[in-house]
This record gives sequence, C-alpha cells and structure tokens, in this order.
Amino acid sequence: MLYDAIVVGLGPGGATAAYFLGAAGWRVLMLEKAEPPRYKPCGGGISSQTLKRFPFAFDEVVDARVDRVIYTLGRREQQMPLPPGALLMVMRDRFDHHISMHAAAELRRATVSAVRELPDRVLVSTREGESYAARYVIGADGANSIVARSGGLWQHRMLAGAIEAEVPATPEQLRRFGTMPLFAFGELELGYLWIFPKATQLSVGIAGLRPKPGELQRTLRRVMQRYGVALDGAKLHGHTLPLYTGRQPVATARVLLVGDAAGLVDPLTGEGIRLAIWSGQLAAEALLSGRPRRYSGMIRRRIGISHALGMGLAALFYRHPRASFALGVRNPFATRAFVDLLSGRGGYGRLIARLLGTLPPFMLCEAAAGLAGHRLGGRIRRVVYGAAAPGELHTATP
Ligand SMILES: Cc1cc2nc3c(=O)[nH]c(=O)nc-3n(C[C@H](O)[C@H](O)[C@H](O)COP(=O)(O)OP(=O)(O)OC[C@H]3O[C@@H](n4cnc5c(N)ncnc54)[C@H](O)[C@@H]3O)c2cc1C
Repeated sequence: MLYDAIVVGLGPGGATAAYFLGAAGWRVLMLEKAEPPRYKPCGGGISSQTLKRFPFAFDEVVDARVDRVIYTLGRREQQMPLPPGALLMVMRDRFDHHISMHAAAELRRATVSAVRELPDRVLVSTREGESYAARYVIGADGANSIVARSGGLWQHRMLAGAIEAEVPATPEQLRRFGTMPLFAFGELELGYLWIFPKATQLSVGIAGLRPKPGELQRTLRRVMQRYGVALDGAKLHGHTLPLYTGRQPVATARVLLVGDAAGLVDPLTGEGIRLAIWSGQLAAEALLSGRPRRYSGMIRRRIGISHALGMGLAALFYRHPRASFALGVRNPFATRAFVDLLSGRGGYGRLIARLLGTLPPFMLCEAAAGLAGHRLGGRIRRVVYGAAAPGELHTATP
C-alpha cells in the first residue's frame, strides 16, 4: 500500500496538514504515538483569527474568551484591551483532537522510529515493528522530532525550556483572570511567566532561554505565590520550545516538517499553535500544488523573515525589559500591530515599524500627561491616543 502522504504526530500541525490533504481527496495515514485525546503541556492561548483557516467551528473546545491582557514588570502593570473574542483559551487535548477528528484520513496508534527517503517514496518504520510507505511524509512530531532527526533535518536548533501546570481555580481567581490572562516579565533573564484562564482552572507556567539549573521551578513558585496561586500538589510538566533560528532546514524532496518539528515557535512570544497550523496548511498547499520543493521558500518568506526580525526584537526586549516595557508594551499606538501579529495578519516588520514610527508622539503625549498630573493626564492620553490613532485600541495608562 502506497499512501499519498503519511502524517507523523497529531498536534495542531499534523492534524491541520492531514485535514487539508484529506479534504482534497489524498489518501492519508496519520500515525500518533499517544492515545488521543492526549495531554500536551501548553498555555493554550490562540487567536481566533487562526481558526478561520478551517471551515468548521471550534466553539465546543473553547474554554475561555479573553477581552484584555495584563502585562506586569515587577509591581508595574499594564492592561491591553483586545477586540472582543480575539484571543481564545483552549485545553490542548480537546483542541488537537477536534482538528484531527475532522480529517478524512486513516489513523493508527504507532510510535515512529525512523524514516528512510527513496527516490520515489518514503518508508516509515515504527517501534511496534510495522512499516509504511508514502509518496510524502509530513513530520509533525513536535519539538524532539524523530522525523527531523532520522531524515537528516535536525540542524541549527535552538531550544528554550518551559514548565507548565494546570491548577484548580478559586471563584476569586476566575473572576480576576477569567477573561484576562497575565504575562509577567522581568522575573528571569530571558523569559516570562503566564497565568491563563481555562473553564475551571488556571494554566500557569514559565518559559526561558538558557535558564540556570532549577531556575524555572524556583521562579515559577515564587511568582505564583505572589498571585496567590498555590502549586502544592500540582503536577509540573516540563517541555522544550524550539525557537526559529532561520538556519534550520524544514524539508527534503519528500519529507516536510511543520510546527515544532520545523522549529517554528515565535521567538518573542513563545507561541507555536498558530505557526503549527499555518505551516501545516502551507505543507498541504505545497504538496497539493505538485511542487513540494516550494515549501521551504514558503516558510522562509511567510514566516522566516518575520521571525528573524522577531528574534532581534526579542533579544532587545528580554535584555532591556524596563525600557521595553516603558516604550513598547505601554505604547497604545502599537497594540493593534501586536494583535495583528498574533492573528497572523502582520509580521514583526510591521510591528517594529509601528513601534519606531509611533515612538515620538507616544513619548510626547506621555511627557505632557506626566506633567499635567493624574486626572488631566488621563484625559490627555484618552484624547490624544483616540485622535491620533482613530479606530486604534488604546488604554488610559495610570
Ligand atoms: C509549557 C508550554 C506552553 C505553551 N503555551 C503556548 C500557548 O499558550 N500558545 C501557543 O500558541 N503555543 C504555546 N506553546 C507552544 C505550542 O504548544 C507548540 O508550539 C505546539 O504544540 C506545536 O504543535 P505541533 O503540532 O508542531 O506539535 P505538538 O503539539 O507537540 O504535537 C506533536 C505530536 O506528535 C506526537 N509524536 C511525537 N513523537 C512521535 C513519534 N515518534 N511517533 C508518532 N507520534 C509522535 C506527539 O504525541 C504529539 O501528539 C507552549 C509550549 C509549551 C511547552
């Protein structure tokens, strides 16, 4: 039996690729090592815009819809309002399963151990002793991808560390964070912490590049204690985040990597669900067009260039959190560009241009508002931000 494509791994990347290939009538085999729906350590924050790539609804797997985000730096706090429903919270087991359930494809539970590419096909072997063949293989098997390793594509990787826990939420915590996820910066050198709401619990975690031994656990416990989130008895899940380096290969002639397997996690925000879905769709598009070699270029042009700029911004942001917080996070002129970025509608080039372009009016307004005192300053901000950026989201910064 020669399949048109074998998809290895059923996270959002693999499930998306399988969905679009199956919908086009391709004969697809999905191989997943865990019994679905499987747990995945993840904050589960995703923009609703991303889900518009699919012609089916996601309402039944959305845990929470948030209308603003809180950023903190030490004791300083900034709220960023979002367009209604722009950001959603999901539990990954149900979310990922939901996509793969829509895929018209054959599913087998199997752990892939190796892939071997031949001129006209790819052979896939599993730990269970089975062997399958397909014209193409999509490697969607996550951050430690066996497909990437055994297909000769495991090069130039940069892995950040992350820890996540699901904790039951008190009614008070659900009131506070229920529609308002929190990001805490400045608590570790190159990373951040989060508190994300789910239906009845909170997903809390920390991610960092090159953390010292034990630093992630210690910092997570310390900061969560400050927000009254008890971690005693909670299971801490550790995992890696494969950040984009711009140099990692993402495809051979017949093997295409998507999502974490391709190392596409956003360098500034650490989000990867959107990139997994996007690259899964691009891989399907490249195969369906009959020109799989287009895939690497598609990734470079549509995701890579923006991510390379994002890497520069991330280096600046995490090395100088105070200045970045004061001049970037608090700049209401830039919030729309950031929301667009999370929605896949604009890249880091646009965000950086927006940040730089709006810096002079932002600083002028902040200086005037600072001199005018608390009440008048608040009015100045509302009037200036509203007039200078009509239709833009803006906050009255305290
Ligand atoms: C702690 C943490 C928090 C995060 N929070 C967010 C967030 O809030 N928002 C966001 O957008 N991103 C977040 N991310 C990133 C996001 O989780 C990943 O980028 C995303 O899961 C990538 O999807 P994927 O389909 O590429 O891979 P995965 O979701 O990792 O799926 C890979 C699948 O492959 C299967 N598999 C692995 N090996 C094999 C094998 N050998 N054979 C068969 N099957 C195999 C696995 O069982 C799994 O089902 C977070 C990551 C971490 C670690």
